[in-house]
Amino acid sequence: MSTITKCYDHWPMGKYKIFDGHNDVLFRLYLKNHNLAYEDFIKGDNEGHLDLPRMKKVGFKGGFFAIYVPSPEAAVTDSDKPIRYDDMENDEYSLPLPDLIGSDIALPIVMRKISLLSQIEKYSQGEAKICLSGFDLEQSFNKRSLSMIMHIEGAECIDKNFYNLEALYRAGLRSLGLVWSRPTIFGEGVPFSFPHSPDTGNGLTDIGIELIKNCNSLNMIVDTSHLNEKGFWDIAKNTIHPLVATHSNAHSICPHTRNLTNKQLDAIKETKGMVGVNFAPAFLRKDGKMLADTDIQTIADHFKYLIDHLGENHVGFGSDFDGAMMPKDLSSVLGISKLTELLSKQGFDEILMNKLCHQNWIELIKKILK
Ligand SMILES: [Zn+2]
Repeated sequence: MSTITKCYDHWPMGKYKIFDGHNDVLFRLYLKNHNLAYEDFIKGDNEGHLDLPRMKKVGFKGGFFAIYVPSPEAAVTDSDKPIRYDDMENDEYSLPLPDLIGSDIALPIVMRKISLLSQIEKYSQGEAKICLSGFDLEQSFNKRSLSMIMHIEGAECIDKNFYNLEALYRAGLRSLGLVWSRPTIFGEGVPFSFPHSPDTGNGLTDIGIELIKNCNSLNMIVDTSHLNEKGFWDIAKNTIHPLVATHSNAHSICPHTRNLTNKQLDAIKETKGMVGVNFAPAFLRKDGKMLADTDIQTIADHFKYLIDHLGENHVGFGSDFDGAMMPKDLSSVLGISKLTELLSKQGFDEILMNKLCHQNWIELIKKILK
């Protein structure tokens, strides 16, 4: 009997243990703008989608914790959201992206969020850990409540000479997305457009390609979610690691710029990479609308499509909890067992369910974070 099966009785609400490709709880805690925000997470503030007590209750035991930097104009307009959801309720839309921001603006915000993640580890009484290698993650996942991979979503904080990359690595950074849609000195992301191909602009810059090589030599994960198609192919050409999209869906079902074309999925399959299924309605629905009134069967449809294209070992969760609107059944992490029950009903057996819920992500991370 595997340890996974033995642990079931610890999870009254969730039969399956989850490791997830993307959440933005650090952004939610950052916006509280007070020194004890980490305590709200550890004790549980019942706000947003995620906090430790709710995650424990349903067996949501880890994931990529994203560090995202809001654009300065978001503060001026008092909007914590980088994009307006009601603009994404139209039949077609193409939302302009904010301007590029400098590392002088981004780095202090990134440092604050690294502190938050470190405080969660420090004050969780051993329940939470920032994992630094695949081995570290595997050990931690089986014994702790929460195993965290530090991820930066948008490389604005990294200078053109990469002077601070080693320091970020030492601080625990193990996964990097070159862009959160907004352009950086390294590449261009996709604007939020529907219906539209992800081929929306130029590929990586020369220093973007240099950054990929630096990440390779550090054995750091490079995330392709939010990147445009030419940038994706530049990563495919230059990385030595499997291709990873932490929180993106299938473009064939939902033709949104944020989703992956069949050709991209073929490349991910070829490298034995990974796609995390994103739960935000606009990236799920055939009509691309960001509406909470969205059936979670659409999530199951993307899982089925991606498993058909990539095989059973290359698909996992990529929720976007605390970073995007969720379907009403997933109004917080407490709803996750509704999704796992629905996935089980698709004919996925227990072996496949465990792969989707956590094993595939852990195996991928073990391959890259050596
Ligand atoms: Zn994102």
